[in-house]
Amino acid sequence: MRIDLHTHSTASDGTDGPDQLVAAAQRAELDVIAVCDHDNFAAVLPAQRRGQQVGVTVLNGLELSCCLAEPDGGPVRQVHLLGYGCRHDDVELGEELQRARAGRFGRVGAMCDRLTALGLAITEDEVLAQAADSPSIGRPHIADVLVSKGYVADRRQAFDEYLGDGKPAYVSRYYTPLQTGVALVHRAGGVAVVAHAWGPGSRAALPLHVLTGLVADAGLDGVEVDHPDHNDDVRAVLGALTTELGLIRTGASDYHGAGKTGNDLGSCTTGVEQFERLVAEIDRRGGRR
Ligand code: AMP
Ligand code: MN
Ligand code: MN
Ligand code: MN
Repeated sequence: MRIDLHTHSTASDGTDGPDQLVAAAQRAELDVIAVCDHDNFAAVLPAQRRGQQVGVTVLNGLELSCCLAEPDGGPVRQVHLLGYGCRHDDVELGEELQRARAGRFGRVGAMCDRLTALGLAITEDEVLAQAADSPSIGRPHIADVLVSKGYVADRRQAFDEYLGDGKPAYVSRYYTPLQTGVALVHRAGGVAVVAHAWGPGSRAALPLHVLTGLVADAGLDGVEVDHPDHNDDVRAVLGALTTELGLIRTGASDYHGAGKTGNDLGSCTTGVEQFERLVAEIDRRGGRR
């Protein structure tokens, strides 16, 4: 069994629609994928319908934009939280996702203004057109406009020079406090797993004691250990932690579509026994697979 538990579609900053994503899963010889778009579930059901036709299991997922506040009231530190098996009609979670998506749209104009002031003229309409019908607009959509206008070579350069956290065109937005995110996932019947826990962007936010505290205080269920952003050392330490604390250990590519981030679908995978634990836990909580 080949299982990739973190992928994106055009319902957020991925470039494959639900049908294309499932076709890509077939080409990558995957038996299971989870669709984890940022702050919305729009592609889950279409991908599940397509998956049923062709024999790919599609797990209901979500990547929630969360944060930890600096103790001294300094800048927020972003942490991405994966929610598996959340009921889509959960009112509280739905309201929080709505708040997150509103925050995403609300900052686009200010980021366009900053880019324009930096000599990269770009309009909000261009970004909205780039995002097409995605319910969740993100910096990658802005990056894609910068690429199409010839200002940068690719998404990576756009983030490195302009859009990344703390870069000149970065504007903050609303992020769900991490503990609240875990609780919302649980109350919607889901299983909460920290995404790319010690990738370049998140390691500073999640030192070991914060991670273990999240398990003890909020009941965090798992850690995404095998991820393209994690080197062997990181995987060894996080893997040992999941064993020690009895957490679910997942692995996934964080695929965003062919040719965009270089993370090939299926390049990191989850063990079948871990997947079975995850699914059993969703069922036990009355979640929606
Ligand atoms: P946002 O959702 O607007 O906060 O933008 C974050 C998203 O941008 C992530 O989910 C990634 O898909 C993408 N991203 C973050 N850093 C980079 C990077 N260095 N190069 C390309 N894409 C990135
Ligand atoms: Mn993304
Ligand atoms: Mn992420
Ligand atoms: Mn992701």
